Amino acid sequence: MNNTYFTPGPAELYPTFYQHLQTAMDEQIGSISHRSQRFRDIYKFADEQLRTLLSIPSTHGIFFTGSASEVWERVLLNCVEHESFHLVNGSFSQKFYDYANALHKHAHVLEKPFGEGFDAADVEVPAYAELVCLTHNETSSGVQMRTSEMHKLKRKYPKKLFCIDTVSSAPYPDLDFNLIDSAFFSVQKAFGMPAGLGVWIASQNCLAKAERLEKNDALTIGAHHTLPTLWKHYKTFETPATPNVLYIYILGKIAEDFNRIGIDTMRKQTEEKARMLYKFLETSDTLSPFVSQERHRSQTVIVATTGTADKPKSSGDVMAATKAVNMIVGSGYGKFKDSQIRIANFPAVSIEQVAALIDELKK
Ligand SMILES: *Cc1c(COP(=O)(O)O)cnc(C)c1O
Repeated sequence: MNNTYFTPGPAELYPTFYQHLQTAMDEQIGSISHRSQRFRDIYKFADEQLRTLLSIPSTHGIFFTGSASEVWERVLLNCVEHESFHLVNGSFSQKFYDYANALHKHAHVLEKPFGEGFDAADVEVPAYAELVCLTHNETSSGVQMRTSEMHKLKRKYPKKLFCIDTVSSAPYPDLDFNLIDSAFFSVQKAFGMPAGLGVWIASQNCLAKAERLEKNDALTIGAHHTLPTLWKHYKTFETPATPNVLYIYILGKIAEDFNRIGIDTMRKQTEEKARMLYKFLETSDTLSPFVSQERHRSQTVIVATTGTADKPKSSGDVMAATKAVNMIVGSGYGKFKDSQIRIANFPAVSIEQVAALIDELKK
């Protein structure tokens, strides 16, 4: 019997993935030139489907990278001359900040403890910060920052560029790209594909900044996949280097499947499954929700503490019990490995599969 993966990435594959892979093989997508009309059509199709799905306006381009963490580096090189600002409350937001330091940017940080979240009212952006780096869903702790709070913050600082890590939540967050300059994700999380492709959405304002920085001899915006080079090729739906054509093809097809269901329905299904999981955790006597503030609880990666203060239980026991019935849940992250589990609530798992997992966890 096949496993169902409730892991937060790599994750359960979206059910239509296999059919799209088969079609791609039948059509010999793996051998076509990335300078052919066939490829330009594939890029254009993925672009159109993602634009519809995420309401991306024509002011923004959509680019492909090796993975999401590559975008941390690209956006910092291309959009920051001196100073960036980061909200950090877990391992992934921390890494975004670490990249800024490694690139010798003057990186400002506002930190909160693991399991806590941010609201616009908590945040004062330093005066000279050029780029505000936010993480919609902190995958390590199961904390989300609401998009309405991100929009509120941007309205308070309209001149600053905002870049949002939506890696473990897209297409769930309803970002307003009239406000948000840049966002990015990888395909192995909520899009239900194997790892190997990152998607970077960036605005003309980001491009203008990169072009300005490129003229500055005291600075580099990098050599590989600079925003001006990506954009130049994007105009004809091409890429500077040979891209992952197969995955761009499949991503377009999966985004089309999502659009057939409709993004509103998909978001409602995500919220319904999250509601079921949190309701169960609230009433369980062996598991409890890790994130205490309801508005900061992730809708896409649900983190639970295993056992109770007087009756601790190792996450390994819980994971082994569900594995025995072919359901794979994620362990806690880092130092919470043994005391927490993480359950991905991505579109690839149905309401019925979530209900079956809850039944198993009840035992
Ligand atoms: C997984 C993840 C990343 C890194 O993605 P890669 O595909 O491994 O580069 C970055 N941010 C968040 C929030 C993630 O969950």
